[in-house]
Amino acid sequence: MSKALEAIRAYMITKKLDAVLFNSSEYLTSSNVRYITQFTGSEAAVLVTLRDRHLFTDGRYTIQARQQAQGYTIHVTKDTVGSVARLVSKWGYSRIGIEPARLTYKLVSQLRRRVPMSTFVDMDKRFLENFRIHKLPQELEKIRNAAAVASEACKKVLWQGIVGKTEADVAWELESEMRRLGADEPSFSTIVASGERSALPHAHPSKKIIFPGDLVVMDYGARLSGYNSDETVTCVVGGSPTPLQEKMHEAVYEAHNRAIESLRIGIPMRQIDQVARQCIDRAGFGRHFIHGLGHGVGLEVHEPPRISQSGKGLVEQGMVFTIEPGIYLEGIGGVRLESLVHMSGDGPELLSLMPKKLISVA
Ligand code: ZN
Ligand code: ZN
Repeated sequence: MSKALEAIRAYMITKKLDAVLFNSSEYLTSSNVRYITQFTGSEAAVLVTLRDRHLFTDGRYTIQARQQAQGYTIHVTKDTVGSVARLVSKWGYSRIGIEPARLTYKLVSQLRRRVPMSTFVDMDKRFLENFRIHKLPQELEKIRNAAAVASEACKKVLWQGIVGKTEADVAWELESEMRRLGADEPSFSTIVASGERSALPHAHPSKKIIFPGDLVVMDYGARLSGYNSDETVTCVVGGSPTPLQEKMHEAVYEAHNRAIESLRIGIPMRQIDQVARQCIDRAGFGRHFIHGLGHGVGLEVHEPPRISQSGKGLVEQGMVFTIEPGIYLEGIGGVRLESLVHMSGDGPELLSLMPKKLISVA
């Protein structure tokens, strides 16, 4: 039995639950279903009891569910709610735990109507997500590979040159290169933002041509066997940076490096954010660092922990998260540097491999 399943069952006993229901659909995809069952199809409900485990899906996934969801009784159905309701009624499960953030209102209200004698109880917020924070060795290996593929792809794209190309072309090159090197797909829509547009933290690559003198922010990740990576580089195109570009980069570089150097098991997340924020404050750009310092990465690109001014909890062994300070000046441009870090027992291990010092590319 997996540790996640053990944790779910221990939680059920504590909370006096007869069953726990998880759901993933095309409307609301939940990585928790994949995490506990290994099933990768787009539609699935999962009912875990103290005795057994059930996975409900539709006819498209009959073979796949049997292959992937080992240890689960597979129910192939056109009516998931009806099938779950029948099982719940048959065994008289009266208290059923649900994940409020992962189930649609429609599903829960239909279930309440179909099994009125059962109570659906909200589980603790992020119960499984908090469990997922500590990566298992096999998960870590996938993230490590994903990060290496993404860094290698970026290196190749920069080496080929980006000046005179559109942002969209460079994003396409980077995504193709990641796939060629073994990624299943990009972890998210690659960001390539140049010139003034680099001041938009989540810019969509446009038809803008990359000119000499532009700052270019590239934020990208590769997904491999379901696991993601996330990295950002900023470069200056075609020659030397301006004094302002250099000053911005220096502040972000300092913040990035100091934050990583300060990582220790047991220190508060907030403190890491503070280390980076102080560097950027000291350089006079404090109010232009407009987001948190980092986030966990795994089956999802953004998952706990959060490393921010309001981030809770401590740095713990087995966590994988980003450190990504940035400065964004409207009308001028932006700099963001993002590295993916695994917190090992011996200290931080850098999973993303691109150098973060200011590089000038052709
Ligand atoms: Zn990123
Ligand atoms: Zn990120």
